[in-house]
Parts: sequence; C-alpha cells; structure tokens
Amino acid sequence: MSRVLIIGAGGVGQVVVHKCAQVQSVFTDILLASRTKSKVDRIAKDIESRYGRKISTAQLDADKPANTVKLIKKFKPDLVVNVALPYQDLAIMDACLETKTNYMDTANYEPKDVAKFEYRWQWAYKERFEKAGITALLGSGFDPGVTNVFTAWMKKHIFSKMQYLDIVDANAGSHGVAFATNFNPEINIREITQRGRYFEKGEWKEIDPMSVHKAVNYPEVGDKESYLLFHEELESLVKNFPEIERARFWMTFGQEYLTHLRVLQNVGMTRIDAVNYKGTKVVPLEFLKALLPEPASLGTNYTGKTCIGVQIEGLDKNGQPKKHFVYNVCDHAESFKETGTQAVAYTTGVPAMIGAMMMITGQWEKPGVWNMEDFDPDPFMEQLNKHGLPWKETSF
Ligand code: NDP
Repeated sequence: MSRVLIIGAGGVGQVVVHKCAQVQSVFTDILLASRTKSKVDRIAKDIESRYGRKISTAQLDADKPANTVKLIKKFKPDLVVNVALPYQDLAIMDACLETKTNYMDTANYEPKDVAKFEYRWQWAYKERFEKAGITALLGSGFDPGVTNVFTAWMKKHIFSKMQYLDIVDANAGSHGVAFATNFNPEINIREITQRGRYFEKGEWKEIDPMSVHKAVNYPEVGDKESYLLFHEELESLVKNFPEIERARFWMTFGQEYLTHLRVLQNVGMTRIDAVNYKGTKVVPLEFLKALLPEPASLGTNYTGKTCIGVQIEGLDKNGQPKKHFVYNVCDHAESFKETGTQAVAYTTGVPAMIGAMMMITGQWEKPGVWNMEDFDPDPFMEQLNKHGLPWKETSF
C-alpha cells in the first residue's frame, strides 16, 4: 500500500499521473491536486477511461504551506511529488517538514521577482529534513534528473576520472505553432534569457545569452545548432564530482523561435517587473504566458523527436582516455498517443514517476535533501528501459 500526492496539473503533472496509474503495484492510491480544479478533474476522467482506475482530486493553492499541510493531514501520503512551478518548492517543502512527509520535485526553487535558480535555498533544508527523518529528492525530471543519473552511472561503470562533461539537449520536433514553449512559458523564458554560465577549472564563467553556439550531432536527429546555457544540474554535478574540469549544457533552438524571442525581448514583453498599465500593475512575462498556448495543449499535431544525453571525456577504469555518450531518443507523437502530451512533458514526467518509485519502494531513501546523483543509478536506469525512455550508449 502506498499513497502519493501529486501537486500540479500541467503537461508534466499529466504524464506523472498517467505513469503512476500504470504501475498500480507501487502507486496504490493517487491524489492529484492543483490550483485549477477543472484541470485535475479532466486528467482524472482520462485516467479512468484509459486504465479503469479512479484517482482522487483536490483544489490546492500550494503557495501557502497551511493549505498543503491540511491536505497532507487528510490524505496522509507517503510522498509528495511537486510538479507545480519552482516558485512553490519551498512552501511545499515547509509543509512536508511540518507533517514529516517525503518530498520530490523536478526543478529547483526560483524566487518570483529574480530570475535566478540555484540549489542553495533547498540545500539549506538538509539538516531539518535529516532531523525529521524524511527524504527530499531534488530534480527528478530529464534535465535535471536523468542527466544526473547518466553521469553517476558513467562514473560507476565507465570512468575512473571524468574530466569534460557536456549535456546536449535537442528538440527536433515540430508543433506547427509559430511560437510556443514546451514547458511553462514563464519558467522557460526566464531560463533562456539569463546570461549563460559554464564551469571550467574550478570557476563559473559567464557569457551573454545565446552568444556561444555550435552544431552538435544527435543520434536519430542529425546536426543541430546548439546554444550554451546555464542549467541547474551543472551546479550539483560539479559539487558532487569535483574531478570534473569543465561542465557545459547545450540546447537546440530553431531560428523561428529565436527571432520571436528576440522581438519579444526588444519590446519588453519578457520583463518580470510590474509595469503600470491604466492603473493596473501588469508583469509583461505573466501577461505573455496568458497569451501563449499551454504546453500541455501542444501534443495534438506534434511530430519529430527529442534527443537528450550526456557526453563525457576522461579516463576509463584502466586509466586510458575514453569518450562516452549515454542518451535517450523520444518521439512526440508516441508520447501523445500514450499520455496525451508531447515528448518534453513525457521525458520529464516519466523520470518523476521513477524517482517516486525509487523512494516509495525504499531503494532511494536517506533522510536529508539530495540530488539524483547521490543515489545508486542502476535501479533507476533499469526502470527507464521499462517505462518508455530506453537509453543507449556509444563511445565517440
Ligand atoms: P505548467 O505551467 O504546464 O503546469 C504547472 C501546473 O502547476 C499548473 O497546473 C498550475 O496550475 C499549477 N500551479 C501553479 N501554481 C500553483 C500553486 N500555487 N498551487 C498549486 N498548483 C499550482 O508547467 P509544466 O507542467 O510544463 O512544468 C511543471 C514543472 O516541471 C515546472 O516546475 C518545470 O520547471 C518542471 N520541468 C522540469 C523539467 C526537467 O527536465 N527537469 C523539464 C520541463 C519542466 P494552473 O493550471 O492553475 O496554472
């Protein structure tokens, strides 16, 4: 018997619920809660019609810990899976502490008024989680998430020393919409309009947004122009594997997307400070989000594939130079057929379910606040192959 409370009913939440519902032996009771009740009810109806399983639903504003505490006390979950937005991370962790409940998320905390995501706010909960005897697992999506697990797996099985790490992320899909983001527009645009950052020789180096790019060859996808960005798993990976000399993150963007983004930035639509419009305070990026398609709605005509992986150069177990690449390729249309959402939500929601499975089955359990690479990667890698995200490896 296990009980899981899933918070957030966007594209990612929808996939997490589908995947948990498919593994009834692990997830016996599911409660889906989110801000808009109609969205959780729509997902619950879909789950019942596809799998014949009833899940519980609730309306929840998770910005206030007291609301989440009340719901936890009523439902008594073994684990809270937070797939709402990074803004809610600390409030939900507070509620978990108060009720001594395990916690998991897919994206690190970010304050609403500063576009800066860092682990330090959540790592600061470590002692309190230890004392309460509960586990928090941070970043159990694809990147962060699977990319951390791929790195830990290569350290365990391939390398004696990892020197150069490159995470490469391609979305070679087409949704047929002129401009849309594949996950929450506000979070996505805040992330990619920041200055880029990478780690080299013990220090972080900053670059102008999108100013460094190169063609990367992705299996099954081909050559794609990829842009250097800061991504949160770099922070935990260089801390947990101090042998890494350089760590970078690369992501593909189409020209159409970049042109729209540049125009939106130039006219001030990506600003996160409030402006006065006819006596009303409006945050331009929040307004823009209201105009853009919901990521969960993009799946209908989505074609093409994503390819995300980790390339490492270093020394193998015999001290010989080695370059190794572990990756997954995921198809948008197949993801949609299975869960009603596109591959970006799918590649995030499947690892969230697997992270939850690791915790509920006790395979990944130690009081405190942890990143994915802090645990044994093997059982997680095994489950990826069973639940829709098979991985491949190649030496290059
Ligand atoms: P969406 O915007 O589609 O969904 C977010 C959901 O959270 C919505 O249902 C929203 O409710 C709900 N929500 C927002 N605020 C609150 C609140 N105060 N209380 C309760 N519910 C709330 O986002 P996505 O599904 O695209 O992304 C979900 C998370 O996954 C994000 O944190 C994102 O950063 C992360 N992510 C991680 C990735 C990874 O690989 N690690 C990749 C992609 C995403 P409402 O419908 O009312 O707005």
